[in-house]
This record gives sequence, structure tokens and C-alpha cells, in this order.
Amino acid sequence: MSAPHAVISGASIAGLSAAWWLRRTGWDVTVIERAPAFRDGGQNVDVRGVAHEVLERMGLVDAVRAANTTETGTVLVTQDGSVRAELPGDGPDGATAELEVLRGDFARILLDDLPDGVEVVYGDTITSVTDRDDAVTVTTSARRRFDADLLVVAEGVRSSTRSLVFNAPDDVDPRDLGVTMAFGTIPRTASDDDRWRWYTAVGGRQVHLRPDPHGTTRAILAYAAEGDQDDLGDVDSRDRSAVVAALARRYEGVGWETDRVLAGFATTDDLYVDRLTQIRMPSWRRGRVALVGDAAWCVTPMGGGGASLALTSGYVLAASLAAQLFDDTAARDDTSSASVERALAAFDDWMRPLVDDVQGIPSGVVRFAYPRSRVGLAARWAIDALLLSTPLRSLAARVTRVADTDRPLPPLTVAS
Ligand SMILES: Cc1cc2nc3c(=O)[nH]c(=O)nc-3n(C[C@H](O)[C@H](O)[C@H](O)COP(=O)(O)OP(=O)(O)OC[C@H]3O[C@@H](n4cnc5c(N)ncnc54)[C@H](O)[C@@H]3O)c2cc1C
Repeated sequence: MSAPHAVISGASIAGLSAAWWLRRTGWDVTVIERAPAFRDGGQNVDVRGVAHEVLERMGLVDAVRAANTTETGTVLVTQDGSVRAELPGDGPDGATAELEVLRGDFARILLDDLPDGVEVVYGDTITSVTDRDDAVTVTTSARRRFDADLLVVAEGVRSSTRSLVFNAPDDVDPRDLGVTMAFGTIPRTASDDDRWRWYTAVGGRQVHLRPDPHGTTRAILAYAAEGDQDDLGDVDSRDRSAVVAALARRYEGVGWETDRVLAGFATTDDLYVDRLTQIRMPSWRRGRVALVGDAAWCVTPMGGGGASLALTSGYVLAASLAAQLFDDTAARDDTSSASVERALAAFDDWMRPLVDDVQGIPSGVVRFAYPRSRVGLAARWAIDALLLSTPLRSLAARVTRVADTDRPLPPLTVAS
């Protein structure tokens, strides 16, 4: 009996987790990645809540811990760099998680641990999807064609294959959070330490510096602006010098380490800019096609937990399919479209409360986190001081508790 075949588009955390779990439960897997080679850029992501258990079941907790960013805590600093407050940092609910890792290092750990039988194809992208009763047919820009039992779209927030399949007006509800973030790796200097240093200036502007385990420093410039005031323009079509020049204009007069960050961004090879956009969808499945990770429900760094949800979704997808499609021997049993659709419905049902919980960013958070005026900034400091006072400290720590659930993970038997 031949194994069922899954095509997965996107080789980051969600796609690689799905590949890992589907292969371990008896699928042949082809992963298609648009980038010409494995992408190892990106900054801190963390493994929290139920994702910790998924990572344990993969046997990868020690590997992720060994790759940790070396960050020990988070401090809010003033313009001269002195510390004005320290965020709760201990235990799994701290701003710096127990399993805090660079996105690229995390994805690399998953890639290196893929079982035999997963083919990863780089520099290709899906151009058409035809979902029929007996198979989903996928063609690619490199003229590949697959007649698969399942297509998993794990292409991140700006997924193009999602647009091919979920193209009715109400299928996708993208919500612009009004915040742009520029991430990049810059040279480490003697003033950098092992803490996440976070500076908030007037004009809705923030500067962040975080240690990494590679002898460099990860910097973020994050600012609030309405879409039509955002001088980076269309975030998908910019050249680097124009981006850095626009950032320099916006950050004029901010001080602290801003000039150093801008100089680093001018030469770094991993500048990554994103206008934070939540993705909300009433359904993450259609026929034999499933969406996972940011392509399905991007929560953005404001919500946190994107990497945890991405990792968990690979497991829940494979478990839901195994429960519907296979008998106890994990041999091919029933890959009819009705069975696949039932499995994908179970996947959607299990993931949805977890995602809803993370996506519900209270209104006013952006205004609070990115104060425009001196009065707003002073109010922010006063509220920080209150939240970080001893009686309310544990409440503040809970803000970082994401991807948490009392529900057990769906059971999954791994093929031997
Ligand atoms: C290079 C990079 C840097 C990032 N840096 C940060 C960061 O600093 N901080 C942070 O919080 N989050 C960052 N993210 C986002 C973070 O990885 C996700 O929020 C989270 O981990 C969920 O991952 P995902 O696998 O769903 O999506 P992503 O991590 O966004 O991965 C999507 C993958 O799909 C590929 N892809 C996209 N379109 C296509 C296509 N049409 N065909 C084939 N492949 C496609 C992309 O190249 C990428 O490898 C970054 C993502 C990337 C890709």
C-alpha cells in the first residue's frame, strides 16, 4: 500500500513542524520553499504553553535550549540608557521565555531533524491549485506537478497560495494593527549586555536591543503610524537604502542607541520589515487544503506566541489526519476527500480557541505601548510602575502567557 502524499508550501516553523509530524505518521512529504535556500534570518521567538509539550514529544527541548538567545531578562530604559523598570523575568511567564530562540535557529533545528522521506525543494512556488475529489493537483513556477492527497499552506502572513484557494471576499480578514517593525542584526558593542533593553520615545517610537548567541545584537525599530503616514510605503516593494532613510527620518531626535541601529541596518544582510497585520479567517481549510501558522492566523509579535502556534499546528494537523485516515497500523486506509475534510475540520476545531485567545489584543494597547505625546509617555511610565509594583507583578507576567490550554493535545501514535 503506498503512503499518502502531502505537499507543504513554506519551510519555516509551521511548514517544517507539519512535515516532521506528517512524515512520522506515515506520509510522503514534499516541502516547497520560495526562497532559493533555507532562510535563517529573524529574531527572538519563543516556545510557550502547549507548544512546549509538542517540542517535548519531538525530543527537541534540549536542542532548542542549547540554542537559546542567552537573554536573561528585560529592562525598560530611558534616553540615557539607565534602567527605569525591570519586567517580570522568572519562570515560563517572563517576558524572556525559558525557551527563547532565534527564528532561524529554531527552524534550522526542525529542518535538521526531519525524518528521511521528506523532500525539500527551494526556489519554487505554487502557481495553481485544483482540488478534485480524488486528489489536489498543484503546479509550480518550476513546472513541477503533484497530484497529492493534501496541500498544507505554511507561507506566512502574506501567503500567495492562500489567495489562490481562499479567494472569496469573506475568506480572509486582514487587520492592520498600525505598527511597523524593522528587525536586523547589528554588531555587538561593549555597552550591550545579556538583557533585552527596550526604549520608548514620544511619537510612537520604540528601540529594542537584544543579545543573541552568535556574538551579535538583534535590533528592532518599532513605531505606530496610520497606513497613509507610514513613510516605508508598501512593505513588499522597497529597497534597503530607501527603508533606512525613511527610518532615519522617522527616528530623528529619538537618541539612545538609534544612530547605531540605523548604521547597522544600512549594512546588515537580514533587514526584515513588516507592517503588523493580523490574519483572521472563518475557516482554515477548504477541500484537501489546510492553512497552518501565520498564513492561517498571523497573531503578530504584538499578540506573541506565533512560533508556538505554528509549531503546535503541525502536530494537531497530523494527529487529526491520523485519527480519521489511518487504522492502528498507520497503513493507508481512507484518503477520500470526505475523510480528509473531516480531519481538517477537527484540526480547525482544536486550534481555534487557542488562536482566538492570542488574537484578542485589547483595544487601546497600541496607543498605550506607542505613546505619541509627552503626556502619553508620562502616563505610560506611571502605568508601567503600577503594573510592575509587587502586588500586580504576577498579573503583568500573565500577559506573556500565550498558547496555554487545559485541553490535552489530541492523541497521536507515531509510526515505527
Ligand atoms: C525571514 C523571516 C524572519 C522573521 N523574523 C521574525 C522576527 O524577527 N520576529 C518575529 O516575531 N517573527 C519573525 N518572523 C515571523 C515568524 O517566523 C512567524 O510569526 C512564526 O514563527 C510563524 O511561522 P510560519 O512558519 O507560520 O511563517 P513564516 O515564519 O513567516 O514562514 C513562512 C515561510 O514560507 C515561505 N514562503 C512565503 N511565501 C511562499 C510561497 N508563495 N511559496 C513557498 N514558500 C513561501 C517563506 O519564505 C518562509 O520560509 C520571521 C519570518 C521570516 C520568514
